[in-house]
Amino acid sequence: MLELAAAAPTPVADAVPGQFVMLRGEWGRELLNPRAFSILDAPDPRHFSILAKAYGEGTRRLKRVEPGDRLVTTGPLGAAFPRPDAGVRDLLVAGGVGLPPLHFFARMAHRAGLRDRSRCTTAAATATTWCCSTTWPRGASPPTSPPRTAAPACAAT
Ligand SMILES: Cc1cc2nc3c(=O)[nH]c(=O)nc-3n(C[C@H](O)[C@H](O)[C@H](O)COP(=O)(O)OP(=O)(O)OC[C@H]3O[C@@H](n4cnc5c(N)ncnc54)[C@H](O)[C@@H]3O)c2cc1C
Repeated sequence: MLELAAAAPTPVADAVPGQFVMLRGEWGRELLNPRAFSILDAPDPRHFSILAKAYGEGTRRLKRVEPGDRLVTTGPLGAAFPRPDAGVRDLLVAGGVGLPPLHFFARMAHRAGLRDRSRCTTAAATATTWCCSTTWPRGASPPTSPPRTAAPACAAT
């Protein structure tokens, strides 16, 4: 998980679940294209977070970023999910890196006082890709599918 702080209030603060940002580090000419990441949370006008899995060079470099490194983001982009609704019970189903927007949705529902309105089921190819147990919002309904083996610690939000 990467928690990002903007130098000034950023439009990403207005992001809603389902949206994503394009993100790029100071990677020179080797990697020109930014990479897409769903927004995991946007708690205030200057901060947001993403959950990234390393696949290739871009995500490997992201994994190596240190506090103080500079990243450039464009966004929020993409279509939003419907907002949490007190009259609707939501079943949130995610697999792998599909988790972040549902996490954001559950967090938004929780902040709106709708903590009992959603249930979540997620899947992961291996226990090491399972992050729910520590990133799920406190007090929100936890995911229903436990990993087959213990998952490693993952940064708490
Ligand atoms: C709208 C959107 C939202 C996304 N949200 C997230 C997110 O929240 N978290 C996250 O971790 N990723 C997310 N992704 C995927 C992420 O953008 C890619 O994993 C990333 O761009 C890969 O860049 P790279 O430089 O590491 O790999 P590349 O060098 O671009 O690719 C390396 C190799 O890995 C393969 N590959 C790349 N990405 C994936 C993947 N996701 N699954 C399987 N194989 C892959 C490629 O086909 C290629 O063979 C999202 C993608 C989109 C389009």
